[in-house]
Amino acid sequence: MNAFTARDTIARSGFRDLRVVAKVRESAIITSFHMEPVNPLDWRDFEPGQFLVFKIPVPHASGEKGYVPRNYSVSCSPASKGRYRISVKREAASAPGLPDGISSCFLHDRIDVGDVLQAEGPRGEFVLDKASSRPVVLLSGGVGLTPMVSMLHALASMPDRRTVFVHACENGDVHALRDEVSGLVATRPGLSAHYCYRSPSERDKAKQHFHSEGMISRDVLQRLLPIDDYDFYLCGPPPFMQAIYAMLRALGVPKHRIAYEFFGPSTVLEPDAFRTSAVVAQPARIVPTDEATTVECRKSGLKAIWDGSAASLLDFAEDHGLKPEFSCRSGICGTCKSRLVSGDVAYFEEPLDELGAGEVLLCCSRPSGSIVLDI
Ligand SMILES: Cc1cc2nc3c(=O)[nH]c(=O)nc-3n(C[C@H](O)[C@H](O)[C@H](O)COP(=O)(O)OP(=O)(O)OC[C@H]3O[C@@H](n4cnc5c(N)ncnc54)[C@H](O)[C@@H]3O)c2cc1C
Repeated sequence: MNAFTARDTIARSGFRDLRVVAKVRESAIITSFHMEPVNPLDWRDFEPGQFLVFKIPVPHASGEKGYVPRNYSVSCSPASKGRYRISVKREAASAPGLPDGISSCFLHDRIDVGDVLQAEGPRGEFVLDKASSRPVVLLSGGVGLTPMVSMLHALASMPDRRTVFVHACENGDVHALRDEVSGLVATRPGLSAHYCYRSPSERDKAKQHFHSEGMISRDVLQRLLPIDDYDFYLCGPPPFMQAIYAMLRALGVPKHRIAYEFFGPSTVLEPDAFRTSAVVAQPARIVPTDEATTVECRKSGLKAIWDGSAASLLDFAEDHGLKPEFSCRSGICGTCKSRLVSGDVAYFEEPLDELGAGEVLLCCSRPSGSIVLDI
């Protein structure tokens, strides 16, 4: 992965024009958009699990043209060179008087074959670890299945890596990409799928479209997963993620075996009980030595050694009991922008917008040497 320092001029890959070449209804609420770069040289390969950032054109109240940035995971096989597929859930207003989701409804209602959208990426660190030989469990809720389907394609093309695809949704009407997933798991031994419907319809029952009913429970997981050392990947709505994460941890799965992605504003999955208590309780008592890389958070009075175990400065701050504001956790929204008083950081995910002098995005950077932050 490239590293970008805050002081460097960041070389940006930039937004490119993608033309919609197919629009496919996948369920009552999810539609796929297949897109190809208008200029074939603008194609960028993607890792299964990565997403594209779209500039969704929406007029401001003043009538001026504007856009909102939105992320959509690539849901197709990484082997499909030259064409991306995103699968979008239409986020209609949940109650009268509330607005519909801006981007998802725009895509569903206004975008058709031939239209051109601007997108940046692929980006994101939630990717399949192809170097691992451990069996894989892909756990998704609702539209959270999109990165998992791309990962499943990659896994199905491997000769023998055992994979269990577990998907939870309301019922067969909203279950997207079912045939594709069922087709993939039938391609070789060692692949299986489990569909859990919260409230299956009579038709689902008649056609036996699902394997379990209600919520994914600890029993279901234990039944599906004989004791082994798995790589878990999780994506779905926050309550689903929190419940599954807690179940896995209670079943003894170490946190470094669980990778996850949030589709909305990110939240913290780990209750404090799961964190390393020494780190949470006593951050300021870790005495830095001269050689150690330290992170000092001036306003909070925290100074602690950066030992490399945190994925980002944001994770580091949270591990030490601080609560900086955040939302996307992927360098896009700018919510975690903070002031870098001294030192340098390296970006493992390129910030979407250019940063001003002395600014740092905590969610996608790590220190390059000792630093002082104004948080
Ligand atoms: C890494 C990543 C990958 C993603 N991949 C996918 C993907 O593959 N597929 C996918 O469908 N989505 C994906 N998402 C989510 C996607 O980016 C959008 O967040 C989603 O489409 C909703 O955006 P929107 O503009 O339609 O809704 P927004 O306009 O952001 O609204 C969100 C919801 O809030 C409701 N709302 C709006 N205003 C109010 C209000 N005042 N009061 C109460 N409710 C309100 C809306 O009705 C809507 O339901 C991903 C997100 C991330 C971060």
